Amino acid sequence: MSAVVIGVGTNLGAREAAIHGARQLLGARPGIEVVAMSPIYETEPLGPAQPDYLNAAFRLETSLSPLELLHVVMRTERRLGRKRRDRERWGPRSVDLDLLWDSRGPHESERLTVPHRELMRRDFALAPALDVAPELGARAVRALEDLGGPPRRWGHEALVRTAGDRERLEVEVEAETLFDACAAFASLGEGRRRPWSTLHVVLEPSAEAFGRALQSSLRTGFEVRRATLSNCSKSQWVAQFHGVNLGTHTEAHVRLQTASGVARQAHLEGSIERPAI
Ligand code: ATP
Ligand code: MG
Ligand code: MG
Repeated sequence: MSAVVIGVGTNLGAREAAIHGARQLLGARPGIEVVAMSPIYETEPLGPAQPDYLNAAFRLETSLSPLELLHVVMRTERRLGRKRRDRERWGPRSVDLDLLWDSRGPHESERLTVPHRELMRRDFALAPALDVAPELGARAVRALEDLGGPPRRWGHEALVRTAGDRERLEVEVEAETLFDACAAFASLGEGRRRPWSTLHVVLEPSAEAFGRALQSSLRTGFEVRRATLSNCSKSQWVAQFHGVNLGTHTEAHVRLQTASGVARQAHLEGSIERPAI
């Protein structure tokens, strides 16, 4: 098995969904395991005027050759709706998947150059690549510094205070907008962040992130099957998830409300309802 880094970029349609879709489709292919994903960055476009991009990188463990991987990523792009227009380079696209780096060393053929020719000249490729492949080393770190450091992380800042246990969560959020506040909840519990703390988070507002966050907040044996965030009114968002814990169906409804109509302050209360046995 060899380590390979794939860069993903998207600036049309449901950008975040394209990134997670790519991750899933690649991981479902025999001979490929996606072992890490970088944070998501929001970046300005190269080339013609077009919407901003989201960029990230995946680290794969794979038994496929570089050319087999090129075939897989092009097929994945098509499955995610990418249409290639002749002669238009660097135009807007629903998804672009490039082979950035391969632990087996350089590959050069008519259809494929690895490492990617532009890797060291593009902050939006290099920053996520370094996140998942520190082996890229000091030269890559210096190149990223020369480019002005990593691009901005996707999302916004928020302050979150949490308390609670497995049965009950209480979360207080301060953020610029209610949407950000809600998304802050989604970021809870991810990675090393845990409840019972005050923390600054970088928000990635999405139902997927919400589901993952809840899963790790609740810690044990819990699998989220469905998670949704819905904008119910200007002052209230409703977040719901449905999951399975130790073989029992667990429903939770989490209501996020602005405090006294002030959009910057939100108070959230969640409770886990277990079915009567
Ligand atoms: P750029 O290569 O500057 O990022 P792009 O990703 O927009 O541009 P595409 O239209 O996606 O370009 O791909 C053009 C061709 O690049 C592909 O058909 C592929 O054969 C070739 N190619 C060469 N090296 C690579 C690589 N490392 N990863 C992906 N495609 C590559
Ligand atoms: Mg590209
Ligand atoms: Mg490409």
